[in-house]
Amino acid sequence: MPIVRHSNKRKRDRKADQRRGSARERGYTTEWDKFARAFLASNPLCQYCATQGRVSAAELVDHIVPHRGDAALFWPDTPGQEMTWFAPCCKTCHDGPKQRAEVYAAKTGQDVRQVLIRRKMLPRDFFANLKTVSSQD
Ligand SMILES: [Zn+2]
Repeated sequence: MPIVRHSNKRKRDRKADQRRGSARERGYTTEWDKFARAFLASNPLCQYCATQGRVSAAELVDHIVPHRGDAALFWPDTPGQEMTWFAPCCKTCHDGPKQRAEVYAAKTGQDVRQVLIRRKMLPRDFFANLKTVSSQD
């Protein structure tokens, strides 16, 4: 008789879903899937790697400012802002330096976009209207 059991990963995923809402509930809809595919097709390289002179394939679309389930932050408020709202991103950047920048920004009450510029993950002129700061982390 076969032993049927859920993998630990699926159990972990279900627990995470209960905590933060499922992917669909957090805004990752069919519309998002379509957008993300098109965005990666026209922006195939990781933006954060590119800024640091590395060439890596983008594997996902990163919300530069984390939305944390906030629908108002999920999509740009004005059309045409996609290029400064999202970044094509490799998993290594997403789970490493980008994650750390988000945590640091949240902990210190700073704009994550300025943190990313200071950490040279985005070019200084990436956000045309965002004043950059010169202080060190
Ligand atoms: Zn990268």
